[in-house]
Amino acid sequence: MANDTKIAFLDLVAPHMELEEELVAAFRAALRSAAFIGGPAVEGFEHDFASFCDTRFCVGVGSGTDALRFALAAAGIAKGDCVITVPNTFIATTEAISQVGAQPEFVDVDEHTYTMDVEKLRNFLEEKCERDASGRLVSKRTGHPVTGIVPVHLYGHPADMDPIMELAERYHLIVIEDACQAHGTEYYSARNKRWMKAGSIGRAAAFSFYPGKNLGACGEAGAITTNDEAIARKCRVIRDHGQAKKYYHDIEGYNGRLDSIQAALLRIKLGHLREWNERRRKAAEVYGILLSDLHDDMIVPAAAPWAHSVYHLYVVRVQNRDEFIAELAAHNIGTGIHYPVPLHLQSAYGYLGYKEGDFPVAERLAKEIVSLPMFPNLTPDQQQRICTVVGRSVSKRSTLVNA
Ligand SMILES: *Cc1c(COP(=O)(O)O)cnc(C)c1O
Repeated sequence: MANDTKIAFLDLVAPHMELEEELVAAFRAALRSAAFIGGPAVEGFEHDFASFCDTRFCVGVGSGTDALRFALAAAGIAKGDCVITVPNTFIATTEAISQVGAQPEFVDVDEHTYTMDVEKLRNFLEEKCERDASGRLVSKRTGHPVTGIVPVHLYGHPADMDPIMELAERYHLIVIEDACQAHGTEYYSARNKRWMKAGSIGRAAAFSFYPGKNLGACGEAGAITTNDEAIARKCRVIRDHGQAKKYYHDIEGYNGRLDSIQAALLRIKLGHLREWNERRRKAAEVYGILLSDLHDDMIVPAAAPWAHSVYHLYVVRVQNRDEFIAELAAHNIGTGIHYPVPLHLQSAYGYLGYKEGDFPVAERLAKEIVSLPMFPNLTPDQQQRICTVVGRSVSKRSTLVNA
């Protein structure tokens, strides 16, 4: 039925309409005080977001990419270093690594959580690295010293942080969490015997407030969270042209501040984040039930027992993805692919020397994944309609296969 009303992949308008008066009032207050850079709005949001993430510090910056860049630099990742991450993430993860002068090195992801495979990480450190003459851990592949790990909490699901932190401690590696899709995500840390917030586990973490994220600004914004006072202080200097005191530059930095209007808007929205995340979890549950009959033909997200996902995305896996997407589009249902090409096969990273077959799990995922509509205002009726079309599309194909 081509005249079915559109179900967008993401409805960004509804939450802004619900909060319109409050958001406009914050904008008006900014106009009337001309407080556009720094000031109480930024400090207030930083305070509230640190508290939300259970960290001592939060530093607001211009984007999630800035947050990653500044956190890596402040934590001591240096030119010529090698930093380990995963190939199935948004390119900002590796841009940040290269832009602090380091080189990204990949390990494959886990088949079920789509986050860093800790056995592959262990294997990389034990088998694919060696000590050089001065005792530094270097990658055998590139000869670069390995100094950091950036696990990515993808789609709102945490990476398995306990073993990552244990390996990092054993090899003296700096862990910076990419929490850009994980606002409110929780990880059960058996070694700490408690649930921990994404962004509070590594040395520091990066959050993005790009509009489509679980907590989104009305424009560009990001933040670093950390319990390390020295890192927080360095990030504040780096975001502001390397100055702790106006026009006295200890280092060269960036223009990477969080602007005050965005901070004020984010602070209002942060008050709703727990409820929005809860609604995403409910929607994921509803999908799980509606799609349960299709499990032979479709793989749905499975949260690990140590994970409370916030379902930034609801990503399923199908065969013949193009037809699947076309069929949903014909019924006016939006979808996305996050992401179609793993980073090690992107043209931008030809210089890293990877080839097809190097990371088979990430490569297979890239061919099979589809993101279904997922946002707090998604209704059970809409999900019913989506799953009816999904069911028809998937079973039609399996009948063909079985015939
Ligand atoms: C969104 C995102 C980023 C970058 O954030 P920006 O605010 O767009 O700079 C980095 N990593 C991941 C995994 C993301 O999803």
